[in-house]
Amino acid sequence: MTDMNQIVGSHDILMVTLDTLRYDAAVLEEENCPNLCGGGHWEKRHTPGSFTYAAHHAFFGGFLPTPATTNKSEHIRLFHSRNTGLKTHPHTWLFDTPDIVSGLQAEGYRTICIGGVIFFTKKVPLAKVLPGYFQESYWRMTFGVTNPRSTEHQVNHALKLLERSSREERLFLFINVSAIHGPNHYFVPGAKQDSVQTQRAALRYVDGELGRLFEAFRRRQRPTFCMAFSDHGTAYGEDGYMGHRLAHEVVWNVPYREFIIRPEHEDRAGEESSPS
Ligand SMILES: [Zn+2]
Repeated sequence: MTDMNQIVGSHDILMVTLDTLRYDAAVLEEENCPNLCGGGHWEKRHTPGSFTYAAHHAFFGGFLPTPATTNKSEHIRLFHSRNTGLKTHPHTWLFDTPDIVSGLQAEGYRTICIGGVIFFTKKVPLAKVLPGYFQESYWRMTFGVTNPRSTEHQVNHALKLLERSSREERLFLFINVSAIHGPNHYFVPGAKQDSVQTQRAALRYVDGELGRLFEAFRRRQRPTFCMAFSDHGTAYGEDGYMGHRLAHEVVWNVPYREFIIRPEHEDRAGEESSPS
């Protein structure tokens, strides 16, 4: 069980939204995603929003996807607004700001957004709202849904920022991965339409690129607490539905994982102190 009061302040924090990734597609690719699933399985959760804008407002308000179970009391929230009058668990980190991003900033974190899909482009006022939560936000045409190497470009940008950051700086890095969002048919040679198969291929591509990002976090001073999840799924014709921003189980079921990325200097310290 994650105690966020032990995490905040002592760990870098990485939040990755795998935009539009369906729960079923994620589970089918677990074995092919050593970076996202090396240490465990996807958890089935329900998203608080059926499309990017709604879901991310909820996430930044501290409302992450909730376990897809009927026992609500089992779920311990990572984040909760302070002084709401509601009873909270001792492992829940309480923030006294409008959202977790400025809450982490108040704890000394540098907050960075690397955008992906249209709501992060900053091209129109509406698309500046979500990036506006962060001290720094970045979007390039090459990070967007039409670029078949978008994750590579997003990760390269993150690596550049990490290189320039001191290892001791507290970082909250958010990345909205756009590659799994449509169009994703180009991840399967010859495919003309998006499908669960092409989304699965996109996820395999994304996992490969995220490996480089996780490695870069391993070179930092602190361990990194990573949350990786989807903001919503999408329909490929199920019951006649297409796309998202609608209520269907293929949209509201999302994959969720949280894990710690240990710094490599801790591995070395462990080896040196272990008996030979
Ligand atoms: Zn989305």
